[in-house]
Amino acid sequence: MTAPVMPASTALAPIRISSNFDSGNIAVISASSPDNIRLQIPNDNASEFYQWFHFRLHSTPMVHHTLFIEDLANSAYPKGWEGYQAVASYDREEWFRVDTEFDGDELKITFTPEHAVVYFAYFAPYSYDRHLDLLASAQTSFDCRHELLGETLDGRDISLLIVGDEYADTKPLKVWITARQHPGESMAQWCAEGLLERLLDEDDGVARELLQHAVFYIVPNMNPDGSVRGHLRTNAAGVNLNREWQAPSIEKSPEVYYVLQKMHETGVDMFLDMHGDEALPYNFVAGTEGNPNYDARIANLEHIFKSTLMSTTPEFQDTYGYPKDKPGTANLTIGCNAVGHAFSCLAYTLEMPFKDNADLPDAAYGWSIPRCRQLGEDMLVGIRAVVQQLKTEQHSK
Ligand code: ZN
Repeated sequence: MTAPVMPASTALAPIRISSNFDSGNIAVISASSPDNIRLQIPNDNASEFYQWFHFRLHSTPMVHHTLFIEDLANSAYPKGWEGYQAVASYDREEWFRVDTEFDGDELKITFTPEHAVVYFAYFAPYSYDRHLDLLASAQTSFDCRHELLGETLDGRDISLLIVGDEYADTKPLKVWITARQHPGESMAQWCAEGLLERLLDEDDGVARELLQHAVFYIVPNMNPDGSVRGHLRTNAAGVNLNREWQAPSIEKSPEVYYVLQKMHETGVDMFLDMHGDEALPYNFVAGTEGNPNYDARIANLEHIFKSTLMSTTPEFQDTYGYPKDKPGTANLTIGCNAVGHAFSCLAYTLEMPFKDNADLPDAAYGWSIPRCRQLGEDMLVGIRAVVQQLKTEQHSK
């Protein structure tokens, strides 16, 4: 006996799209038919920016779906949609790429789900719960201390992890790492997680040697409010934190205010600020060559970091990136420039792609969680080379 087959038209489950969860963000225009689901991306609160999306589709498995995200010509980075493939997941752990086309204003995603529920996002999300897990597990390491710096506008904690012996008589160097000032750039926190886990691995020689000479100050998420709210670029008040470093305030940008205050307490010998770039399909760094105090010493440290990292991994390159600032024209409201200026130190913005590394493309996953984490681990090799040079400078003083 065979089971009666239901006609396809009556077998369709109602389509339900929701985003009322951690970092969820979408608005439904219409979702009556699987072949024409129409969506828009809401703005970051009190801001013009919109680009981050993350939503759940509950529908009929094995039926072809076409989703349109409208009005992207006015999004924060229209070039970000060219050559871009959206990510999807059934289990919220493995995020794979799905067929995506862009016509200059609309993003068209075509997909046949294998299960009733599938999640879509701009990039693999890094949840607030995972952030809390990371902080909690790191503090149990012998070398790591968890410090509370202050409170965000939504009442979340601004957390700092300090790795290494701050009070050693050897005058340890101070390496600061921040990630996710722009909350939609979730790759930044995946990368910070990889870096932190390697640093805390007691069997890793690079980490052990680094911690003999340096203390790490790591802020794995600079913008927890924006992250939970599903923002691309701003905090709860619609403020772009990476333009607040000249005059941060507790009212508008407490995240930057407290981190900068702590930096002035500890000093900074090297600063790495982790981000994602919407348009460029490469990993690269942007430096402080436009700063008033940029000099041959900083240029040499930059060279050491970049050349070491390039010989360590094909995921990093120095051919494609942002145009360099002309001398004296740096925007000192940007974290990297402000910190490089205040502490006369090597300061870099690290940019990772939303799309893929075009030098080493992966059609199934694109730039992905494992690759972000691996790049974070590899960062320590570049940092080690800089720390060795800084130790040499210390001795020759
Ligand atoms: Zn950014």
